[in-house]
Amino acid sequence: MAFSREELKRYSRQIAVKEIGIAGQQKLSEGSVLVIGAGGLGSSALMYLAAAGVGRIGIADYDRVDLSNLERQIIHRTDRIGMEKTKSAAMTLQAINPEVRTELYQERVTPDNITDLIRPYDIVLDATDHFENKLLVNDACVLAGKPFVHAGVLAMSGQIMTWLPGEGPCLRCLSGSAPGLAEMPSCREAGVVGAAVSVISSLQAMEAIRFLIGKGKLLTGRLLHYDGLTCTFDETEIPEHSPWCRVCGEHPDIRSLTDHPEEYVISCGA
Ligand SMILES: [Zn+2]
Repeated sequence: MAFSREELKRYSRQIAVKEIGIAGQQKLSEGSVLVIGAGGLGSSALMYLAAAGVGRIGIADYDRVDLSNLERQIIHRTDRIGMEKTKSAAMTLQAINPEVRTELYQERVTPDNITDLIRPYDIVLDATDHFENKLLVNDACVLAGKPFVHAGVLAMSGQIMTWLPGEGPCLRCLSGSAPGLAEMPSCREAGVVGAAVSVISSLQAMEAIRFLIGKGKLLTGRLLHYDGLTCTFDETEIPEHSPWCRVCGEHPDIRSLTDHPEEYVISCGA
């Protein structure tokens, strides 16, 4: 597929990056990313992926735009309060870059539908805001062998890690061992600063872009933690998956998403 004159101009600054070039831009335009959650974490990631020219972008969210979202969910607008979030997000993406194709899933992501949702995409971004949903994305992607980028933000801090089949730990491997896990957001009442969410969300977009162009080093086996109060980044290296992991360990008790449905029931703030 050759780029039009307009596309070459649109992406000219990105094509000028030596690790991308025309070949990398081609890979982005042929690439696909599913973003689960069109809220705070989804906002910057979705907008940068569209701006960068990722060819097919899936947006999954069951919610509608609320006034209390707008402080951090910058993909939405005040005049769209009450609108379906997937529709509002797609409107913003189309305004940024009409060249990209969006696919909307205005539904709750559940153990019943998530495997079908993730299947047609190259990589998945976890932009959900409940720990139980993060476990669901983790388990579905690990069981399906689908690359995904985990992220979580609370108050002014956040964390991010990428999982690829056979590379590094999954989210469940970290249980009880990683310093960042205890800080994972579990209740939307905990509070959050929009700009801090955007830091992590932009890093998620960068993970997807590097994954699609096949350059650089992803955050596999590395949990990156951002402290927005002091503006420091710390990295916990966890090169191996845990043999005791419930989903990717040696004797997993989660072999399908129907084995332990109680794991994915949101316990607070729903
Ligand atoms: Zn694991």
